[in-house]
Amino acid sequence: MPLIKVCEVTKNYRGGVGLVEALTNMNLQIAEGEFLALMGPSGSGKSTLLSILGGLNPPSSGKLIIDDIDVYSLPSERLADFRHEYVGFVFQQYQLIPYLTALENVMLPLAISSRSGREQRAMAQSVLEKVGLGSKSSRLPNQLSGGEQNRVAIARAIVNQPTIVFADEPTGSLDSKTAIELLELFQALNQDGLTIIMVTHNKENLEWVSRAVYIRDGILSLTPYEV
Ligand code: ADP
Ligand code: MG
Repeated sequence: MPLIKVCEVTKNYRGGVGLVEALTNMNLQIAEGEFLALMGPSGSGKSTLLSILGGLNPPSSGKLIIDDIDVYSLPSERLADFRHEYVGFVFQQYQLIPYLTALENVMLPLAISSRSGREQRAMAQSVLEKVGLGSKSSRLPNQLSGGEQNRVAIARAIVNQPTIVFADEPTGSLDSKTAIELLELFQALNQDGLTIIMVTHNKENLEWVSRAVYIRDGILSLTPYEV
């Protein structure tokens, strides 16, 4: 049983000039424990697919099944609960809150839980330790390097112990050494059982993943496109 099933998904956007078909009849199955790369040129539909997979963007037609749940048939509050329970996101711009410390940024997703503040702090601290930032938890984002800010964003994405982490071009703005550190961290988290789906257009990143799929003009392919 795959963890994620994309069934005949099509996504259209209504733009100024008419309809843009961002994804066409897409089918994809992802098993629990995969570290999947989603490759494709700019504008091919990668971010659209990622946002659909993460429960953020309903398809125009077709279904997304995760862990036997028909995600977009959930009423909106249940959909929010679903995201909270299953999904963590890492974006290219880390979207850290500049006036909150690393620890406070990581605590944000825990704010709506019933846990005490003390418990939330302990959880955030332990995840920061896991990403190698235990001693820097009281720093503000601008007191951390780019790579460290990236780790804070990853800590924030995993603090809820989600089943799946989605990362949209997470290495896009990193130098190659920092990018490798990030991929090593993802690989370690994946070996601990986390399912990771990463958008990238960098072929060098493929060395770290367990499988790659390719999108071109909204159509999925299992083999690389010709450049
Ligand atoms: P990628 O992440 O591969 O660069 P996207 O998924 O962002 O591609 O975009 C796929 C296509 O859908 C592009 O043609 C883009 O212009 C269009 N698109 C994406 N988001 C929107 C939107 N919110 N409204 C209209 N068109 C969009
Ligand atoms: Mg994109």
